[in-house]
Amino acid sequence: MSRVILIFLDGVGLGEENPEKNPFFRYNFRFITDNFENVPSLTTQHLSTDDKEIFPVDANLDIDGLPQSGTGQVSLLCGMNASQFIGKHFGPFPYSLHQDTMKRENLFKAVKDMGLKSEFVNAYPQIFFDYLNKQKKRIGAFALSALFSDIKLKTQTDLENGEALSNDITNERWRTRLNLDIRLVQPEIAAERLLKISSVNDFTVFEYFLTDHIGHGRIKENLDTIYSELDAFLSSLLLQQDDETDILIISDHGNFEDISVKTHTRNPVFSMASGPNSGKLSHKINSLIDVKRTILELLKN
Ligand SMILES: [Zn+2]
Repeated sequence: MSRVILIFLDGVGLGEENPEKNPFFRYNFRFITDNFENVPSLTTQHLSTDDKEIFPVDANLDIDGLPQSGTGQVSLLCGMNASQFIGKHFGPFPYSLHQDTMKRENLFKAVKDMGLKSEFVNAYPQIFFDYLNKQKKRIGAFALSALFSDIKLKTQTDLENGEALSNDITNERWRTRLNLDIRLVQPEIAAERLLKISSVNDFTVFEYFLTDHIGHGRIKENLDTIYSELDAFLSSLLLQQDDETDILIISDHGNFEDISVKTHTRNPVFSMASGPNSGKLSHKINSLIDVKRTILELLKN
């Protein structure tokens, strides 16, 4: 019986081997270098070991212009070409016309319809729920898909109880931006919590978007700290993963891999699969549209 953890990193593509532009070549990400002999780039898009693969995924979806999160994430979650559906890339939130499909066909719902259990581990602060009561539409595709599938969004209480993760992994931004009195969590502990939560689920999702913010130049300070926290989290997740779990790390469009421009890129998206089905995941996922179908196939076995 397979279990899948999806780690969604917003805005991470494969870029040039240029440390001036590409943080993958400026910072030593040990979740990559401890597991692979090379760092992935536009020239080295595929890397592979016994149980891990790094591979490129198309996010352009046969549509001109720069890919965006709304259409990219809906394509990933619903297995449809959301950009083609509306004739353009759109974001950061899902387009109104996508919502009917999302209600019917998002990945959380599909897993549920198979009689399996999924969980979305990101915690949201109370101000988010207040906003949600007023205007349900302008929220990210993952949260919206969870809501459409009657999957409860996690709260600050869940976060304090170790039953959820904050979207910055350590809770730092909950303290500094939201002024909430909440304890910091080491990235390694956050990884342990995620694995513990996932152990009672078939499908578990964590969404991280500081990578996209960094790519847009919205975060300029303490970048090495952010990199090291993300890296420690992913490294420890991969290290403690059991052999019944597949971890898929994937993104929705390029951005982070070229910090010399503040916009998204048309580069292929960075993806890593780790676990017993890593070969299958890398072989079958060529575009964002393939993610849903491939995960469902693993869960069926
Ligand atoms: Zn963006």
